[in-house]
Amino acid sequence: MSVNANRPGAARLVIVIADGLRADVAATAMGYVSALVEAGRARATQYACALPGMSRPLYASLLTGRLPVDHGIVTNEDGRACGATLLHDAHAEGLRSVVVAYHWFYELLTGERFNPLAHRHAVPAGLGIADAAWYFEDGYPDSHTFADAESLRQRHQPELLLVHPMGPDDRGHRHGGESDEYRMCARRLDGLLAHAVPLWHAQGYDVLLTSDHGMGRDRMHGGDVPSERRVPFVWMPRTDAPTRLLDLPLPDSSLGLRDFVRLHRQRLGAQASA
Ligand SMILES: [Zn+2]
Repeated sequence: MSVNANRPGAARLVIVIADGLRADVAATAMGYVSALVEAGRARATQYACALPGMSRPLYASLLTGRLPVDHGIVTNEDGRACGATLLHDAHAEGLRSVVVAYHWFYELLTGERFNPLAHRHAVPAGLGIADAAWYFEDGYPDSHTFADAESLRQRHQPELLLVHPMGPDDRGHRHGGESDEYRMCARRLDGLLAHAVPLWHAQGYDVLLTSDHGMGRDRMHGGDVPSERRVPFVWMPRTDAPTRLLDLPLPDSSLGLRDFVRLHRQRLGAQASA
């Protein structure tokens, strides 16, 4: 366990990026998350994702804080690395991360083509990543993604845990963004959070939930309509944090995640050194 993990006020954060989770479904089908908001323990906002609203360009935008037309990854087929990310930021501050995500994240962080037989638990160098699990089937169950993440979190006690469940995107591509199946997937995700968030809070982590893009009725995303663009951002800090975290200014676009993660550390760091 690192020194940081034991320091009062140390910033520990779980970032959940639920792939393809549209804002209206997150706001109406996720009762646990809404319960935290209704009780004044969480804050929720939403905004439009950047364009083109495709997964790989938007993973890169969430990680880097840059538009796809600026970081240059504008297709799902582009295998290049995306440049400096919020993981680089954490590493520069001496913090350790654990990442459980779709294999495109591995490619964005390394610029190397993912090979399932070589890279299932490969750790990209120079990023302070203590451990990782990369899945490579779109139907990989969210329940397994959460269990993978919690297993690695318990083993390494990282300051930053990035969890990327694919369920909403997969169910949306199969059944559409207004289907019963898609909505049920959001309900199940809410159930996974209802198990994990209290555990994470008890272990000193603050938690945020967001998404890369929405999902159209026609089983696709990428266009410029609210169903495909509006994504949630839900901030669920510990209630027993050493300083007030609930009022941190929430991002007003999907380019704001990287700054928000830095701001979270600054708020806790300022408190710890006060
Ligand atoms: Zn998709």
